[in-house]
Amino acid sequence: MSRVIGIIFSSAGYDRAAQGVTGAGRRLADALGLPLQMVVVGGGGGDLAGSLAAVADAVTVLTVTGVADYQPEQTLAALTDLCRGEGAQAVLLGNDTWSQELAPRLAHRLGGSAAGDGVELVIADGRLRVSRSVYGGKAMATIELLRDPAVVWIRARAFDPATAREVPAPIESLEAAPTGEPATFIIERKSEVTGEARLEDAQVIVSGGRGLGGPEPFTDLQDLAGLLGGQTAASRAACDSGWCPPSWQVGQTGRKVAPGLYLAVAIRGASQHLAGISEAKTIAAINNDPDALIFKHCRFGIVEDYRKVLPLLRERLAAMRKE
Ligand SMILES: Cc1cc2nc3c(=O)[nH]c(=O)nc-3n(C[C@H](O)[C@H](O)[C@H](O)COP(=O)(O)OP(=O)(O)OC[C@H]3O[C@@H](n4cnc5c(N)ncnc54)[C@H](O)[C@@H]3O)c2cc1C
Repeated sequence: MSRVIGIIFSSAGYDRAAQGVTGAGRRLADALGLPLQMVVVGGGGGDLAGSLAAVADAVTVLTVTGVADYQPEQTLAALTDLCRGEGAQAVLLGNDTWSQELAPRLAHRLGGSAAGDGVELVIADGRLRVSRSVYGGKAMATIELLRDPAVVWIRARAFDPATAREVPAPIESLEAAPTGEPATFIIERKSEVTGEARLEDAQVIVSGGRGLGGPEPFTDLQDLAGLLGGQTAASRAACDSGWCPPSWQVGQTGRKVAPGLYLAVAIRGASQHLAGISEAKTIAAINNDPDALIFKHCRFGIVEDYRKVLPLLRERLAAMRKE
């Protein structure tokens, strides 16, 4: 029987991205009337496999003998066999580097079609249509995938998680034999140590731009973000000025975030910045220029000098916390 297959790399755990892939997979499988099989690639999938079993119809923990780390060719060969064997009609992956690298290669080997960067998946006339943002977020493109299986990597956090089912799915382990010599391997891994949670997972982001005029106001933004249980980010102009770490940069060449609330303070709203916040549920802005581009994209806007607004906001939020 054919099915929808979702692929998760075990190194990430059941984070918001894995939840998004599973949620998108669940809805796609339901729309097609097919079962959803989640595949955990790599060892140590215990907790992750258990979380996936709560929302999928079947879970497979896939390892390649002797391959502890991600190995593109070996993993690709094992996944190709699995997808063929299970009769995959659609395959979904997240937007991590491995998934983006793997998706088109997997589609090619399966004789299917591929698309990437999907933020919406729709079945129309029996075919999968994938929508994604183009031209730095100025327009949306919809791509129809004509050949099955459709292999798509999605902006996982743009999709809601699936709700748990009454009976958890069975979990099976599958060990594949390595095929051929590896063509590439990882020489070194370096983790970024920021002491903060990932911006991509933040539910509230208070972000500052060049209009703040210097590094000091970022302390106020951090304060405000703290009251909202969120994190602080910045435009490229603010990062390039050295007012905050480069890891805070949101946009086309920075982080792609998907918070419930994105508050842009003294940020103009250049298309390159907007490209990083297209998945934010609600955008709010404080800017002293009524013609600032950001106001065309936000739900709530305050035309005012941020120095007047921030203390009032802070005061009100602190009072609300005490109530
Ligand atoms: C290839 C490429 C990639 C890029 N990638 C990114 C990216 O990933 N992320 C990114 O952010 N940018 C990116 N940029 C840069 C982008 O084009 C903009 O230059 C940048 O986003 C501008 O940042 P800003 O809005 O903070 O600054 P500005 O454009 O200088 O805007 C400052 C804003 O603050 C307002 N302001 C000033 N004073 C006050 C005040 N007292 N109170 C309230 N408001 C005030 C002004 O009205 C203005 O709207 C990229 C550019 C290129 C060419």
